This record gives sequence, structure tokens and C-alpha cells, in this order.
Amino acid sequence: MTELHFTLTEADRLPEAERETILANPGFGNHFTDHMVSITWTQEEGWHDAAVLPYGPIPMDPASSVLHYGQEIFEGLKAYRREDGSIVAFRPEENGRRLNASARRLALPELPVDLFVEGVRQLVTIDAEWVPSGEDQTLYLRPFMIADESFLGVRAAQRARFLVIASPAGAYFTGGVKPVSIWLSRDLARAGRGGTGAAKCGGNYASSLLPTRIAAEHGCAQVLFCDSATEDTIDELGGMNLFLVQAGADGAPRALLTPRINGNILDGITRKSLIRLAEDRGLAVEERDITVTEWREGVADGSIVEAFACGTAAVITPIRRLLGEDGLSIDFGEENSPGELTMSLREELTGIQYGVREDRHGWLSVMVTAGA
Ligand SMILES: *Cc1c(COP(=O)(O)O)cnc(C)c1O
Repeated sequence: MTELHFTLTEADRLPEAERETILANPGFGNHFTDHMVSITWTQEEGWHDAAVLPYGPIPMDPASSVLHYGQEIFEGLKAYRREDGSIVAFRPEENGRRLNASARRLALPELPVDLFVEGVRQLVTIDAEWVPSGEDQTLYLRPFMIADESFLGVRAAQRARFLVIASPAGAYFTGGVKPVSIWLSRDLARAGRGGTGAAKCGGNYASSLLPTRIAAEHGCAQVLFCDSATEDTIDELGGMNLFLVQAGADGAPRALLTPRINGNILDGITRKSLIRLAEDRGLAVEERDITVTEWREGVADGSIVEAFACGTAAVITPIRRLLGEDGLSIDFGEENSPGELTMSLREELTGIQYGVREDRHGWLSVMVTAGA
């Protein structure tokens, strides 16, 4: 264990009645808990000043490097309240490891994984009453790191800050899981070869906002990016990984197809977990290049039968249609969407997360024990 003691400054807590009103209908990303976690890094001292603080604005110099050169990375994970009152997080060490992979690419300091998990645990523990108990509700946790040196020269900052904030989240789909249409962006990319596509950084999201707006103008909920070199090989969505379901000669699902980790896409923890669950069921999983052409031809000849996107926020989002310029339209049709395998994998993964199915891979990490 990395030896860092977290000092505590108690916040004025939101009155219980107001908190309960929020928890009854939290939405996503609108409300924040009473506290936040902060750890400071400097070149000379390394990580120090670990603190649990009242949630609130952070002082920032207008010359702070993050504001000018975008040196920022983040993570997203959830805490779940189980029936016995305990609170668990899903594979938090994976988020800690991925934060460090992002840190290396963005020239930010790495944070020991145990310190990352401890920071999350500190926040979930002090704000445990903010973890909702309603169906499909969670406490969404947002760890992030910013360069925080007051200096306009262009180089990696010598001062950084790691913070964790938390926000109660309602069910992603209200009134049942609904398949979405997605828009293929060929000319606008979120990242290019050798760029920051594999890092979870704010810059990738900034470049995805315009294509997402264009997608919305075409009635699509999400954008699908393809490789900027071939404009046909699929990468991923703005914030989710993509899977196709391939059927065998008998029409039953035989394989999951998903773009390989090619240096341009995010190594999603939901993606990784679903690959494991599919393999447990005896399905083949092919991580390789997949093209829009293969998707179109596969739907036409009946070999591609389902598609879905996955990520922490929505877990699994069934895809009904892929639309794009020049009349591109690949449609599974209402009767085939959401797909059966898509929904059954969704049910299995959320079942593990909420503790109603056996956690056979040891993915859950107890943050707060029952009765604590
Ligand atoms: C966070 C993210 C994902 C999903 O990763 P999970 O670990 O499954 O939440 C996928 N793509 C991008 C670009 C992301 O930022």
C-alpha cells in the first residue's frame, strides 16, 4: 500500500430531504455529492497532500497549463448498492491501470493503482448515502487528472492534480432498453494514427462533439468513427466500443466480432468483460479489423445478426441502424432489434454488478461493507 494519509475536511451536507429528492430522479451528471478527493503531484515531491474536501470550485491560475494545452485525462466507473446494503465498485484497478496508460501518452505522472482505488474508496465511504438504491441506479465516479502549472511554455507540466468527484446516476434507458441509430463519420475523426485515440483524454471528446452534433441532425444518438486512413475500417463510437454478432450456418450466434485494440481505440473495461462472458458461453470472439463493407454485406446475407455498443455509462446499447453520407443505411429491422444475445449479455453483466448473479471472475471490489 502506498503510504499517503487522507486528511478530511467535512462538508456541510445537503439536507436529507433534498438528497432524497435528487436520488428519486438523478438523471446523469447533473448533481454532485458532498465531497471530493484531491491529491497533488509535483516534480520535486511526487504525490502528496491527499485530501477529502467539500465538493466545490478549485482555485486555478489563468495560466494553468490544462487551460491552454489540454493536458487532461479521466476515468469513469460506477459504485453499486447491493441488497444487503454493501457498496461495490466494478473492476476499479482496471480503471487505475488505464489512467496510467493515458497518463503516459499525455505526459502526466502515473498514480499508484492502490492510491487510485483508495481515493475512490474514500469518496464512496464518506458519501455512501449518495449511492442510490433504485433499479439500475448507481453512483457514477469520475476520477481525473489535470496539469496544473502556471506556465505558458510548451512542455509537460511539473505540477498536476488528481481529483475524484461523484454523481448519482439514474437508469440510462428509462422505460426499457431502446435500440439506437448511429451515424458513420468518415471525414471527421476523433483521433488519427499515432494520436491520442487510445488514451481517455478530454481532447478526444472535444474533437467528437461536432461529429456528434452532425449525427444528431441526422436523427442519430451516437457517432461511429472509422480509421481515418481507410475510411472503412471501424474504430469505435465517441465514448463506446462496438460489437457485431455473427451467426453460424444454423442462424444461431457463433461469434462476437469487435475491432482489435489497434492503438487508436479505447481499451474498454466493459468490452473486455463482455469478451470474457462471451467466451465463457463458448462463443468465439474475433478481435480484428472490421469494415463497414463487411457489416453491410453480412446484414444482407444474414450472417451479421446483431450490433451493440458498450461502455460504463449505458453498459450495452443495442444498435438498430447505421446511417451515413451517400445514402448509407444498414438496418436490422424492428423485429431483430434489440438482439437476443445483446440483451442476454446485458442482463448477465448488470446482474454481476448488482450482485444478483455470481461474481465468478472476482470483478467486484467492496467499498463499504454491509451494515457499516
Ligand atoms: C470510456 C470510453 C469507452 C468505454 O470504456 P469502459 O471502460 O467500458 O467504460 C469507450 N470508448 C471511449 C472513447 C471511451 O472514452
